[in-house]
Amino acid sequence: MKVLVCGAGVAGLTLAWHLERSGWEVELVERAPAFRDGGYMIDFYGPGHEVARRMGLGDRLEQARHPVTELAYVDHHGRPTSRLTMPAEFAEKVVSLPRGELARAVHDDVRAPVRYGVSVEAAARDRHGVTVRLTDGTERRVDLLVGADGAHSRVRGLAFEQDHPFVRHLGHHVAAYTLTDPELSRRVGQRYEMLTVPGLMAGTYALGGGRLTMLFLRREADPGLPADPRAALRHHYGDLGWILPEALRHCPDPPVLYYDQVTQVHVDEWSRGRVVLLGDACQAVSLFAGHGASLAMAGAWVLADELGATGEPGAAGDVRDALARYQRRMRPVVLEVQRFGRRFVHWMAPSGRWRIAARDAMLRLASLPGGGRILVGSLINEGHDLISSAGGHRQG
Ligand SMILES: Cc1cc2nc3c(=O)[nH]c(=O)nc-3n(C[C@H](O)[C@H](O)[C@H](O)COP(=O)(O)OP(=O)(O)OC[C@H]3O[C@@H](n4cnc5c(N)ncnc54)[C@H](O)[C@@H]3O)c2cc1C
Repeated sequence: MKVLVCGAGVAGLTLAWHLERSGWEVELVERAPAFRDGGYMIDFYGPGHEVARRMGLGDRLEQARHPVTELAYVDHHGRPTSRLTMPAEFAEKVVSLPRGELARAVHDDVRAPVRYGVSVEAAARDRHGVTVRLTDGTERRVDLLVGADGAHSRVRGLAFEQDHPFVRHLGHHVAAYTLTDPELSRRVGQRYEMLTVPGLMAGTYALGGGRLTMLFLRREADPGLPADPRAALRHHYGDLGWILPEALRHCPDPPVLYYDQVTQVHVDEWSRGRVVLLGDACQAVSLFAGHGASLAMAGAWVLADELGATGEPGAAGDVRDALARYQRRMRPVVLEVQRFGRRFVHWMAPSGRWRIAARDAMLRLASLPGGGRILVGSLINEGHDLISSAGGHRQG
């Protein structure tokens, strides 16, 4: 069986890893000109973490982990206004690392070719497969085309109605980049530091080796992106003090600078014939839910499982039935995490001073004995047995 995977992010690579090991002929195409390193910091936990462990990546992720000992909100002078020492449960359950390092760990174990700088130009479905034309002018006939090409998926646009509003704007813009500045890195230490004023949040983690990763979140009703994202960041954050003037001096231009609207993706049908969507392309939950990479890997595992590629008993059979079972297993969990994410929208970049005060008070409560464990437990909503006993979840 031949599969073409469009998008070599965590979802596409994880699927490729599983399918190639069960005899599928796999090829990936990736729009970026080379492997996408770095990116923003993610907290990785839950079902995707379990998938990574089963793929034998546990030690690799431990090595890539950046320890976070404290979470602190700071004022314009960098003085903490509230702080929380991370409880032991956080380090046990969560691996904090840049998105690119997670993708790299999977990528290094994938043998299938990845064609960089190439995308899907056109796709024609029929009962038995898909004929795909690539942007390099070549054509493929495959049994399955997978759109693992992120929230703004090209494959979704080709295979599903173009004008359907799949992408739901959550009223914020987000930006992230990594910089090297040993003095700033030393000042931040192993804390996750954030500064919030109404409608704006800036945060940073130190990555070691003098590197820092920056995250910016801004309430913005207009989903349209600014013509010059770097200038927009300087305009909105340049006068806020703390480490921001120095950090913004290091700000790169896109695409090294990640800049996007914050979105969730809602798609009713995840497959059309033998074209299927995977990861953020069909299930983006947004950074407010903090679960996207984990669910992307879990989705890849569930799809592989339903296609009979994980060694679990009882799967495979007709490809289109497998695709339908994959959606039935994944979608309820995704909808739940998306709801959780939308409830969190007001708290990362609070709109008013009372919300900022309420958030600080909550963090102070959480810093009382036992409070950190409860807070972390409620945010790390990991109670999904999506991938635990696969056979038990199959219906039909
Ligand atoms: C700021 C931020 C913080 C986040 N924090 C967390 C967190 O703490 N924990 C967590 O689990 N998740 C987090 N997420 C979400 C997580 O990063 C995503 O859910 C996850 O990366 C989705 O993986 P994916 O492979 O589906 O998509 P992506 O990672 O978007 O990968 C898609 C790939 O497809 C490629 N591509 C795009 N278009 C095309 C095309 N037309 N043709 C070919 N290739 C294409 C892209 O270049 C990319 O390599 C965060 C996201 C953001 C933005």
